[in-house]
Amino acid sequence: MQFIDLKAQQKRIHAQLMENISRVLEHGQYILGPEIKELEKKLGDHVGVKHAVSCASGTDALLMALMAYGVGPGDAIFTTPFTFVATAEVISLLGATPVFVDIEPDTFNMDPDRLGDAVAALKERNPGKHPLPKGLEKLTARGIIAVDLFGQCADYGRINRVAKEHGLFVIEDAAQSFGAEQDSAKACSLADMAATSFFPAKPLGCYGDGGMVFTNDDGLAMKLDSIRVHGKGSDKYDNVRIGINGRCDTLQAAILLAKFAVFPEEITLRQEVASRYNNLLGPIGGITCPVVRPGNLSAWAQYSVLCGNRDAALDALKEARIPTAVYYPKPLHVQGAYAYLRYRAEDFPVSMKSAAGIFSLPMHPYLEAQDQAMIADVIQKAYK
Ligand SMILES: *Cc1c(COP(=O)(O)O)cnc(C)c1O
Repeated sequence: MQFIDLKAQQKRIHAQLMENISRVLEHGQYILGPEIKELEKKLGDHVGVKHAVSCASGTDALLMALMAYGVGPGDAIFTTPFTFVATAEVISLLGATPVFVDIEPDTFNMDPDRLGDAVAALKERNPGKHPLPKGLEKLTARGIIAVDLFGQCADYGRINRVAKEHGLFVIEDAAQSFGAEQDSAKACSLADMAATSFFPAKPLGCYGDGGMVFTNDDGLAMKLDSIRVHGKGSDKYDNVRIGINGRCDTLQAAILLAKFAVFPEEITLRQEVASRYNNLLGPIGGITCPVVRPGNLSAWAQYSVLCGNRDAALDALKEARIPTAVYYPKPLHVQGAYAYLRYRAEDFPVSMKSAAGIFSLPMHPYLEAQDQAMIADVIQKAYK
């Protein structure tokens, strides 16, 4: 059994993949070739956003979004400690400071009430109101990166309201949520900018690294286009700002075009797989199934459950040769890389508790009912 079975999908679309790859080999425009524009148009239309700028990875997508806002030293960016490190890493790379905000215990996404507290505490320089990082005296609140963890969108209605009240921008880290929806709007359209990833294991993945930034703002889109190619102006030898080499390969775009043809159907299949898990695991005492809030459709990047005795479940699943993963075993505020912020473990109790009890089960559109029944059986026995 595979944790994420990419082979089953490949078998389905093999002919189209080969045709698309061959076309790139024929025209030879490996960098910013015609497939790049085609993919940007298709995905931009799909999510309902005016500008889609492809790039080299989800990490670069986040980095480029922050660079387009001119984020730098002295800027505070609010995000959660219960995420993949890339979300906070890009803030630090630019010399800005991540200000962590705890998550909701059921969705694992940023808690909008705590966000309001954190912004107010920073403005008042009052760490008694909400935990703040070292160096808070010199920080100015600039923006928010909310994360759509495991495929479910964060609560953008409330997060955008806090942002507006305080004059902050909002970036949606949609690396795990491409294909998700909230109140009939698509993930990647829910904030000022969005960043997604095409890492192979993500809901829409390529065969290497890739990413995309989305925005309706013409000015920001122009900056993204420039930042992606070394801060180009009228051409790449006219450099008007500091940029990066953030381009997406044409071959990856060609692969994504073949995969995108079946993607909407795969999102539907993911709902079926998730609901089978819910039915099988729901009745098992000691397991808490994922909660999808009303108005949300998850892209199910992961199917993650909470449990009291994780080791018992993980040992039994390992014994039965069922792959599992723990996302994330250690929240960012207790990682060595972020020791310089001088947070204490107990500053974000919901993140700590989630990290101690969570694990993810095999999840992909082609997971079969009989395999899921077997998984549930192993877990049930582990808890007897
Ligand atoms: C995967 C991921 C990223 C980074 O994407 P890459 O394409 O691997 O650079 C960023 N944020 C989150 C939440 C992710 O899951």
